[in-house]
Amino acid sequence: MKDNIWSKYEDNDLVKLNEICDEYRDFISRSKIEREVVCNSVKMAEACGFINLDKYIKDNEMLKPGDKVYVNNRGKSLALFVIGKKDITEGVNILGAHVDSPRLDLKANPLYEDTDFAYFDTHYYGGIKKYQWVTLPLALHGVVVKKNGDVVNVVIGEEESDPVIGITDLLPHLGREQMKKEATKVVEGEKLDVLIGSMPLVSEEDDKEKDLVKKNILNILKNKYDIEEDDFLSAEIEVVPAGRARDFGLDRSMVMAYGQDDKVCAYTSLRAFLDVLDVDRTTSCILVDKEEIGSVGATGMESSFYENAILEICSLLGHNEVTALSRTLSNSYMLSSDVNAAYDPLYADVMDKRNSSYFNNGVVFCKYTGSGGKYSSNDADAEYVAKLRKIMDENNVFFQISELGKVDAGGGGTIAYILANKNVNVIDCGVGVLSMHAPWEVTSKADIYEAYKCYIAFLKDA
Ligand code: MN
Ligand code: MN
Repeated sequence: MKDNIWSKYEDNDLVKLNEICDEYRDFISRSKIEREVVCNSVKMAEACGFINLDKYIKDNEMLKPGDKVYVNNRGKSLALFVIGKKDITEGVNILGAHVDSPRLDLKANPLYEDTDFAYFDTHYYGGIKKYQWVTLPLALHGVVVKKNGDVVNVVIGEEESDPVIGITDLLPHLGREQMKKEATKVVEGEKLDVLIGSMPLVSEEDDKEKDLVKKNILNILKNKYDIEEDDFLSAEIEVVPAGRARDFGLDRSMVMAYGQDDKVCAYTSLRAFLDVLDVDRTTSCILVDKEEIGSVGATGMESSFYENAILEICSLLGHNEVTALSRTLSNSYMLSSDVNAAYDPLYADVMDKRNSSYFNNGVVFCKYTGSGGKYSSNDADAEYVAKLRKIMDENNVFFQISELGKVDAGGGGTIAYILANKNVNVIDCGVGVLSMHAPWEVTSKADIYEAYKCYIAFLKDA
C-alpha cells in the first residue's frame, strides 16, 4: 500500500474532484440499467455536438478529422468516436466499459397471486449473493414493448412519492433450519419473487372471482401505463435497489451506489472522452451491455457491432481496402475500463497484500484477470504497461497495479480479452470497489477522480 492520495491534493484538485463526483452521483442515480445509461450518454454526447453515424451513412456524407459520431446499438450499447487528425489506420485510443449490472429480471410470465399476495417472478442476472436481495426497497426499471411497436418506459420506485417493492425473508424465530443451510441456498433463485400487492379488486359482479389481488395490480398497470398482462411477454423489466446514490462515510470520502460495477468506469470514461475533443489519434468510447453474463449477444462486446462501426467509419474516411480494419485494430490501444476488488481488511484472507488494489491509492491497472493459471485472461504486454506507466507519470496520475485476489481464491473477467483477441493492445484499468456485486457498492472519490485523470491522459497521449 502506497500513501493515501487525499493528503496530496491541493484546493483546485478538490474542487474538480467534487465536481466530478457530484455529477457522477447524479448520473448513476438516473442511470441504473443499460438502456438508461445509453439514453443519458447519448444526450451528453449530443450536447457536445456528436451526431448519429447513421446520418452520415444515409446522407452518404464523408467523415473528416474533428467529426464526432456515435453508434447506438439497440439502445443497450453505444460506441462513440472523435475522428483524429492522423489516419485512422494508425490506430484508435479506446476506452471500453460495461453498463449492465447484476440484478433481477422479470420472467416472461411474471405475475401471479398466492394467498392474497401478488408477486413478480424473477430470474437473477449476473453474479449475485442471493441472500443480499431480500428485505431491501426495490424499484422497477425497463421497457414494455407493445405489439404495435409502442415502447412504454417504466421507472417505478425512484421518486420520493413512488411506492417501492421488495422480497420478504423468514423471521429468525422460525429460521432454525434456514440458518443451517449454506449461503448459496439460504435464499434460492426461485424464491426471489417480488411482493407487489395485497389489495383485492372490488368486483361488483362476483365475490368469488379468483386472483382479485393480481387483477387489481393489472388494473393499476392498465390505468397508469396502458400495459396488459400479455405485454410482459415482450418486456425487459429489471428489479434493482431503489433510491439514489449517496455520499458514504462521515467524511464523505466515498460513494455508495447500485451498479458501480461498471458505471463508475463508464461515467468517468465517457466524461473524459467528451472532455478531450481535439485529438491527433482517433479516440473512441465503448459502453457495452451483457458483460456480467459473458459479453454475449448482439449488444455484448463479442458482438460484431463495434468492428462494423469501425468498418463504416473507415469507409466514410475513404478506406475501402480490405486491410483497413485489421490495421486499425492492431495499431489501437485500449483501456478496458472496469472495476477491481479493493482490499477489504474484513476479508484479508482472500487478498494478496502486496498485489491488491487499495482505496485512495489511485486508478487500478490489472495486467491480467482470469482465474487459476491465468485462464481466460488477456495478459497485457509489458511493453504496453511500460508505455502507460510513462503516460501516467507524465500526467501526474496516481495509479496502482494489482491482481484480483489471491491466486486460487477465485477470479473474474472483463471485456479486455475480446478486443485483445482482435489484436488490440488492451489492459484493464478502473476503480477499486468494496462490496462488489452487492446491491449497494462502495467506491472512493479520490480513485474516481484519478480514473477520470487517467482516461484523459490516455486519450491524449497513448
Ligand atoms: Mn465489471
Ligand atoms: Mn461484475
